[in-house]
Amino acid sequence: MPYNLDKTEHKMIAVTAPSGAGKTTIVKSLMQYFPQMAFSISATTRPKRPHEVDGKDYFFLSQTEFKKRVELGEFVEWEEVYPNVFYGTLKSEILRVQALGKVVIFDIDVKGAVNLKREFREKCLTIFIKPPSIDTLRKRLENRHTEDDKTIQKRVDKAAFELSYENNFDITLVNDVLEKALINSKNIVNSFFSLKIPI
Ligand code: ADP
Ligand code: 5GP
Repeated sequence: MPYNLDKTEHKMIAVTAPSGAGKTTIVKSLMQYFPQMAFSISATTRPKRPHEVDGKDYFFLSQTEFKKRVELGEFVEWEEVYPNVFYGTLKSEILRVQALGKVVIFDIDVKGAVNLKREFREKCLTIFIKPPSIDTLRKRLENRHTEDDKTIQKRVDKAAFELSYENNFDITLVNDVLEKALINSKNIVNSFFSLKIPI
């Protein structure tokens, strides 16, 4: 498949935040509400959570496979989000979603979102999800019961650094009361969809 993302006329939405802020919850709700959106399934080397499905939530790869794909230039961006844990956006995923005529939505870390913005500029809306506090973030991660204590600690340790990226993004969405955040997220996306983007 030819890689010709530069010339894409499609809008994209990148949702970013520290882990536990509510990205997945908000992205899933947006996708239910906007049928014209489809998720870019990232590749990762982290272990699969029990409820996750390979090829739906992520492509779960070994480190060897991930590095091989990096060498082959298959990623539009990739990051070592936590020490020795890699995540990346496959070019083939963006092309797959765009071939369906849909708007790509990404769930991505702060550095990855900055890179997507640099690549796609005004075509890509970047939304930063902000938790009420780091303490709330920790509680959300604990209540999610998907990571052990050590992994939760690593994620919380990184949150202050990630929060310092807030000003790099187009808009901040505070996720305190979930129902309010979901309404606001829909309003933000509707405004972006109504914009005429110069190509
Ligand atoms: P992320 O994808 O950013 O890591 P999740 O969407 O998985 O975050 O949310 C982390 C946990 O917090 C989940 O268990 C989710 O159900 C819960 N959660 C999300 N938003 C809120 C909120 N506003 N109030 C309370 N819990 C929330
Ligand atoms: P989780 O392990 O909780 O699913 O994700 C951990 C972090 O990795 C989150 O901040 C998530 O947004 C980020 N992430 C997921 N996919 C990608 C990707 O393709 N690229 C980058 N850079 N980060 C990603």
